[in-house]
Amino acid sequence: MPETLKRNIVMMGAPGSGKGTQSAVLSEKLGINAFSMGDILRGVARGTDEEARQVKALIDKGNMVPDQLAIRLMEKELFKPENQNGYILDGFPRELSQAKALDKALNSRKYAKYNMGIDLVLLLQVPDDYVIDRIIGRYACAKCHTLYHEKFKQPHVFGICDVCGGKEFTRRADDTFETVVSRLRLFRRVTAPVIPYYEMKGLLVCVDGTGPIDVVSEKIRKIVGY
Ligand code: ADP
Repeated sequence: MPETLKRNIVMMGAPGSGKGTQSAVLSEKLGINAFSMGDILRGVARGTDEEARQVKALIDKGNMVPDQLAIRLMEKELFKPENQNGYILDGFPRELSQAKALDKALNSRKYAKYNMGIDLVLLLQVPDDYVIDRIIGRYACAKCHTLYHEKFKQPHVFGICDVCGGKEFTRRADDTFETVVSRLRLFRRVTAPVIPYYEMKGLLVCVDGTGPIDVVSEKIRKIVGY
């Protein structure tokens, strides 16, 4: 691997800006895992215990789960041996306290030898009206979670997942107009303060996320250096 290749990557942007889509591309190209806090949380929400019920109630309303829980679940995932070679964090951290807690964990003495510190933070910039359009039309394969869009990214054969051949698709319960508007507000109020934090550390690179998926991927390829 060349020295300049960025392997420990945080993907930031408003809901619907394309984080999941571009994380999946990077994950495949770099051969490392991408984690969406949302996917981890939806996994927990499928359980039947009290924690599952609470998480489900929060995400259905478009709210965030408590910091401590989010950090605990993320750390558990990140420090699995298969992720010590690089990772892509899709939509995490979502607030400043999480960003600080994450740095603390990644730079802790226990993990110092793995060089887990963040190399690059990509900020996907997309205006609100694009984001609303993208979220309302979003759906995913029920089996392998590959993302699609009614207008922008249908499977090659209608009704059949390109990746796994699955024929069932799902939509997120929180992908409605009302929750998108509330998630956009939440992003501005709670997540946006993370941007200057990474900028001060010299890690932030802004990417215009308005073009077609492969155009945005190409911009990211140049920045990451693969
Ligand atoms: P996020 O993870 O930031 O919430 P997603 O990656 O899920 O955003 O993208 C939201 C929806 O928009 C998905 O259905 C995806 O297929 C579609 N999408 C992503 N990037 C683009 C793009 N550059 N142009 C058009 N549609 C896109």
